[in-house]
Amino acid sequence: MLQSDIDALRTAAVSPQQHFIAGAAVEGAGGARLDVISPIDGKRLTTIADGDAADIDRAVRVARRVYDDGAWSRAAPVERKKILLRFADLVERHAMDLAVLGVRDNGTEIGMAYKAEPLSAVATLRYYAEAIDKIYGEIAPTARDVLGLVHREPLGVIGVIVPWNFPLMIGAWKIAPALAAGNSVVVKPPETASLTLLRLAALASEAGLPDGVLNVVTGRGETAGEALALHMDVDVLAFTGSGPVGRRLLEYSARSNLKRVYLELGGKSPNVVFSDAPDIKQAAKVSANGIFRNSGQVCVAGSRLLVQSAVYDQFMSELLAVTGKLRVGDPLDLSFDIGAVNSEAQLGKNLAVVQRAEEAGADRLCGGERLHAEGGGFYMAPTIFASVGPGMNLWREEVFGPVLAVIRFEDEEEAVRLANASAYGLAAAVWTGSLRTAHRMVRAINAGVVHVNTYGGTDVTVPLGGFKQSGFGRDKSLHAFDEYTDPKTAWIAL
Ligand code: NAD
Repeated sequence: MLQSDIDALRTAAVSPQQHFIAGAAVEGAGGARLDVISPIDGKRLTTIADGDAADIDRAVRVARRVYDDGAWSRAAPVERKKILLRFADLVERHAMDLAVLGVRDNGTEIGMAYKAEPLSAVATLRYYAEAIDKIYGEIAPTARDVLGLVHREPLGVIGVIVPWNFPLMIGAWKIAPALAAGNSVVVKPPETASLTLLRLAALASEAGLPDGVLNVVTGRGETAGEALALHMDVDVLAFTGSGPVGRRLLEYSARSNLKRVYLELGGKSPNVVFSDAPDIKQAAKVSANGIFRNSGQVCVAGSRLLVQSAVYDQFMSELLAVTGKLRVGDPLDLSFDIGAVNSEAQLGKNLAVVQRAEEAGADRLCGGERLHAEGGGFYMAPTIFASVGPGMNLWREEVFGPVLAVIRFEDEEEAVRLANASAYGLAAAVWTGSLRTAHRMVRAINAGVVHVNTYGGTDVTVPLGGFKQSGFGRDKSLHAFDEYTDPKTAWIAL
């Protein structure tokens, strides 16, 4: 990646954005607008449509009509595959401008954003495109006088609501399997990071996706998001975001048409370092990356660090050394390691967490302050707290910022107890040279993924999702098809 390629794109004007419905940019019914503030400098980048229930209704009606027409829903899988592969190629061709646009909107450091956003969306689109004509139905092992066939049917109109940390990647995890299976989709992007999903929908159209199969309505959660979740003609709501909003979506479903809701929620993931970790220096480096990249705005961030007493001092000194070298600043400048916090509101929440942790008696070892305030952007120093008690908020509640809580432990049993003492169960990691310890910990920790001697690696071939209050349902892998299709039985007398 060249700095000159980034610089060529970073100041391009971004025109005011409209919704994308039925294959075209359309203005919202109410005409209201929302400012898009770039976290890089706190300045207005452009505006988006502040969608309302009328806009959502328009998009859902279009999505339903197209679904019923069958141009996409009843197209042969191989035809859907062709268009989705073309779609993936187009996203790949535009990867750099999508990445830079996304960073101007949400503040993630470009090195990470380029891979995690457009390139991972490309991989996801290709995976489901390639899968769709290789998945067979079933013949049930019935008695000989009947034939039991199990078909996989798409469900209709899928509502997708995603957060601002990786809107393109997380959006693609839902949009790609939903489209591949033949559904129509209405996306409500996060209000502070809508631009790349709007561009994505336009590229889908260019690739030949029939108009109205993929629609994007921008706006606020409590208006456009709520309207989508309450809509009587949405069959499934696929959501990634916070726990409190996830709870509301379940209520909306109950109050409307009992649409099924899949929730990928927050986490407070334990990262457990045993004294026999093969390489303490490497473990410290990867652990710092595992909490601080994208300013901690990563659902699987290793935000609770558990270190065994025998290596505590050594590990912490390596961790502080590597953290001290992390450079925070302009996310479009390749010389920085970490970019901006997404919004002023999120930065404020992070700083309030720091203050409360200090008041509760935790020991701040580094960071805790806003950086580069003079430039108007939203930057925060990587922050580490030791002497954290398991009862403290800092140990229990998700921050979604660059704040790490550290506890020491004596033995495996205590590590498991501390790791599992959480309402969440999204991700975890274990560092050990013992195969037996590793496998025991993988079984003992309640989380959707347990990394061993690494933190945060993944790809589209494995499922992502949570245990406990981190939600239910799974993005990625063939398991994701379960959310967007239903088995249908044909029982045939012979
Ligand atoms: P959020 O829940 O505030 O918002 C997520 C989305 O929900 C946004 O598009 C928002 O507009 C919408 N929304 C808000 N209120 C709504 C309502 N009443 N009805 C319908 N929609 C509504 O979350 P956020 O602050 O954007 O993102 C941070 C959260 O997302 C963190 O908790 C993080 O852990 C979680 N997250 C989880 C994963 C995962 O895969 N499990 C991945 C990334 C982020």
